[in-house]
Amino acid sequence: MSEASMRELACEARLNLRRLPDYMGSIADRLRSFEADASQHGQRIDFRFAFGDASVDMERLVMRANAADRDGLARIKDLLATAVEVYAREESPEIVWTGDLAEETRLAQFREMVVTDIRDLTPHMRRIRFAGEDLSRFAKFGGMHIRMLFPTRDVPDPLWPVLGGNGLPVWPADDRRPVARVYTIRKLDVAEGIIDVDFLVHPGESVGSAWAMQAAPGMKLGIMGPVGRPVRQADWYVMGADETGLPALARLLETLPRQTRGVAFVEIANDGERQEIANATGIELHWLTRDGVPAGEDRLLAEAVRSVAWPQDGSAFGWFAAEAAAAKSVREHWRDTMGLGRGETLAAAYWRRGAAGLMAG
Ligand SMILES: Cc1cc2nc3c(=O)[nH]c(=O)nc-3n(C[C@H](O)[C@H](O)[C@H](O)COP(=O)(O)OP(=O)(O)OC[C@H]3O[C@@H](n4cnc5c(N)ncnc54)[C@H](O)[C@@H]3O)c2cc1C
Repeated sequence: MSEASMRELACEARLNLRRLPDYMGSIADRLRSFEADASQHGQRIDFRFAFGDASVDMERLVMRANAADRDGLARIKDLLATAVEVYAREESPEIVWTGDLAEETRLAQFREMVVTDIRDLTPHMRRIRFAGEDLSRFAKFGGMHIRMLFPTRDVPDPLWPVLGGNGLPVWPADDRRPVARVYTIRKLDVAEGIIDVDFLVHPGESVGSAWAMQAAPGMKLGIMGPVGRPVRQADWYVMGADETGLPALARLLETLPRQTRGVAFVEIANDGERQEIANATGIELHWLTRDGVPAGEDRLLAEAVRSVAWPQDGSAFGWFAAEAAAAKSVREHWRDTMGLGRGETLAAAYWRRGAAGLMAG
């Protein structure tokens, strides 16, 4: 296939922003973090993703997107529009895409899923299998997470979001709006049309955990994604996760190349929460137990990860996913004490003690 035909779908959007150059550094950084190569040509910055191309022209105030297929074009429109909405918020950006697929109202990143199987891996980890149509996009773009859209007691029969003219989701009014929480696709089988999600069942009022506890075959919910940036390839990793980061850590251990080395720590409530992981790598896995200390209060995981000496040669990456305070402590150590950058580390807050719905908006 020629270069031209690989990028055959095209669209553009005019921007009403007076101070676009002021935000462009942040917009470009965000797009680069989704593995785009960026190059500047005068007032225009071009971005090349694996799934298509984009450009932002600061003089003509126009953004353009090209891709080989609908998923790629929708993904680029979403990445561009989200970056502009986030960084140019104070100018209330108005984005209207014209060109290919401009009339599309189906939200490319949305699927309705139905529960087909439920299995308790441990006393507090419940694996739920969902079936849905055409899941191929969840294997693309390098993100392994999804935003799950739950029915709740207040909104038992939600309406799903549709695609707006700006390339972003349009949500129903609050009385029909589902509640979102972020989860990891533990396993994806595109041919079978299934995903598995491992839900930590935790105490207290909640949405995701409460839904998982009463889930039954035949129940429906929505998913949007994939969400998240690709994990940087490296020869050696230091990893850390509590139960919420465990599904992602396990997926990484099962899919990273065999010759990968390093050390991984997983914090669990007690030994009863250990689970089988088909670790395909040479990364050493260690389980740390809280033994009665409430989740989010134990310092053991962050301390273990912080104390690891990084190798002097070869490429190395630090990956961490747990409660917000632990993530902050690890991020500060890697960034401030060790002087490592974004390209070598990712320390993410997956939940915050006392706060509902972290990262779900
Ligand atoms: C990228 C990403 C991937 C994630 N993947 C997974 C996954 O695969 N599986 C998974 O189980 N979680 C995962 N999480 C974490 C999950 O999104 C949060 O734990 C979320 O808060 C759960 O929603 P909830 O509705 O059950 O609780 P919420 O309604 O958000 O919170 C209600 C209360 O429960 C508390 N709470 C939330 N999480 C926990 C916890 N882990 N332990 C104790 N108390 C808690 C909150 O502090 C709050 O007080 C992920 C998060 C991110 C950002």
